[in-house]
Amino acid sequence: MEHESGAPAPAARLTAKQLQQRVQDVTADRNQLLAIFASMREGVIAVDQQERILHINEAAADLLGIAAADSIGLSLAGVTRLRPFYEAMLKTLQSSTPVTMEAPFGLHGRELTIEITTRPLHVGGGAQFGAMAVLYDVSELRRLEAVRRDFLANVSHELKTPLTAIHGLVETLIDEPDMDRATQGRFLLKVQSQTVRLTNLITDILALSRLESQPDSLRQELIDLRDPVAESVQALAPMADAREVSVNIQVPDTPVPVAGDREALRQVVDNLLDNAIKYTPAGGRVDLRLVLDAPDAQLDVEDTGIGIEPHFQSRIFERFYRVDRARSRELGGTGLGLSIVRHTVMAMGGQVAVQSMRGRGSVFQVRLPLAPPAGSPPKA
Ligand code: ADP
Repeated sequence: MEHESGAPAPAARLTAKQLQQRVQDVTADRNQLLAIFASMREGVIAVDQQERILHINEAAADLLGIAAADSIGLSLAGVTRLRPFYEAMLKTLQSSTPVTMEAPFGLHGRELTIEITTRPLHVGGGAQFGAMAVLYDVSELRRLEAVRRDFLANVSHELKTPLTAIHGLVETLIDEPDMDRATQGRFLLKVQSQTVRLTNLITDILALSRLESQPDSLRQELIDLRDPVAESVQALAPMADAREVSVNIQVPDTPVPVAGDREALRQVVDNLLDNAIKYTPAGGRVDLRLVLDAPDAQLDVEDTGIGIEPHFQSRIFERFYRVDRARSRELGGTGLGLSIVRHTVMAMGGQVAVQSMRGRGSVFQVRLPLAPPAGSPPKA
């Protein structure tokens, strides 16, 4: 029925309004979906049956090293260098077969491991109109798994060495009941030193695993850093005397306040000082210098010892890494000390670094943020 004024009938007007609402709803849905895809850590990419890109989110574009906005409508073969990914998509397009795989991929000089999952795309139960892939960077996950595997292998090996020695010593003592008392005594002393070694190893492994699994478990008390430094120097003075290494300490007259775990900080200083004494030949010297260098406290542990060649300097903070394995063992080392130092210092918001020259000595430097003076407002 024609309306007098020629304007659309109310029913038709309603439909137009509904239509407009519909378009708005669809646009809102689409924008929501795009926002979800855009915020995903996983890369999402969809192509049509002709391999043209229908959609790609930022994460996928980053992983593939391309610009998302410019690649819509382009052929997948032209935009990706990740060959196994392209082949997986092709397989899914051609045979509707989903693929799940991992592939190595070099990007910006980094070697990544990408997990690729592809699926065919259908609307309802209709014909396939393309395929989609989810890409996930699992490099860090795989690296951590490898580190854990190595750690387990190292721990087993490290524990087995003293246990094998103890086993051999005890067996000889049992097999030779007529052994003279002096030799027996020597054997027992060796058993004792191997059990000390085992205990040290287990203590260090437990400390490290606690630091790794619960870095927040460290206490946050206000400490004057001069205290753990003085305690450590006092505790290790007999060892330094026995090895004829002089230890000199230089601390400010005023407190050096840091927020941290007193026991853990004491262990940091112990480990650095113990190493400095251990790796310095008789007649050498070790200097501990504590300074306020706002906004940090800085502790230098300097020795005139054997030093560390440049290519070992970054590795010595890895667990069980020792420049000279036999020498470290002989000196009672576990290869975990510096790893514990690094984890502790980092958990307290600090850093540790080394400077060294082979044959000249080393300086280990710890920087920890100074705690704000009592009464000042907490940091935002
Ligand atoms: P370790 O128990 O073997 O001393 P650490 O983790 O404390 O284990 O140190 C790792 C390695 O770093 C040592 O085995 C040693 O090779 C080297 N190192 C550490 N501190 C020093 C130092 N002050 N001088 C020379 N080498 C050092």
